[in-house]
Amino acid sequence: MSKQFLVLLVPAILFIFGTNQCKKDKLADPPKALDTLALTELEKDSILNGDTNNVMRILTIDNYSDSLNLRVKSHQVRADKNDTVLYRLARRMYYTLISTGSGVGLAAPQVGINRDIIWVQRLDKTGKPFECYINPKIVLYSNKQIVFQGDGCLSIPNQSGKTNRFSSVAIEYDRLDGTHNTEIVEGYSGNNFTSVIFQHEIDHLNGILFFDRLSGKFNFLQAID
Ligand SMILES: [Zn+2]
Repeated sequence: MSKQFLVLLVPAILFIFGTNQCKKDKLADPPKALDTLALTELEKDSILNGDTNNVMRILTIDNYSDSLNLRVKSHQVRADKNDTVLYRLARRMYYTLISTGSGVGLAAPQVGINRDIIWVQRLDKTGKPFECYINPKIVLYSNKQIVFQGDGCLSIPNQSGKTNRFSSVAIEYDRLDGTHNTEIVEGYSGNNFTSVIFQHEIDHLNGILFFDRLSGKFNFLQAID
């Protein structure tokens, strides 16, 4: 073997094996899977820019950027009693809701956080307490459908309408402390329309607004025909 050939061969071998070693190292240490249940840095900044009792701005459909954000599907979040940022978000949402004076429910997307968190006033309970639900889901609808008079939304100022809803729903959710619960919620008229509040707020988590549920809109289309 000539010296000249060896001079070319050795770097070639080093290059090939060196490259393979590099590839092996990359395979042996894959990137960490994204923890989708954890709040992002951007979400944390937005939550921590105000104190526990500072209200948050409620997004409204008459603002173009807000209207797009209200149509985004939200994601689940990890319920954890030691998560001080999540706790602060929940408290700020509560103060935001009661500051409206008349609101009976609020969903996190309405304050710009696309996470599955809602507050609902329990009109069906003594004292009508406001309660927080994490990752709420409707798992069963009643057979009975109703037309709810006067559905309204803090994100759609000065408007209301008749909507198609269900008389009761079965829901699943977590509490802030991480406990998991299932219950049937009833009430769709008079002083107790708790079931409708849950349906309205959970709709927000899927980017659905009350005017998507308006009763009679298909009659209007038929009338055009
Ligand atoms: Zn609403």
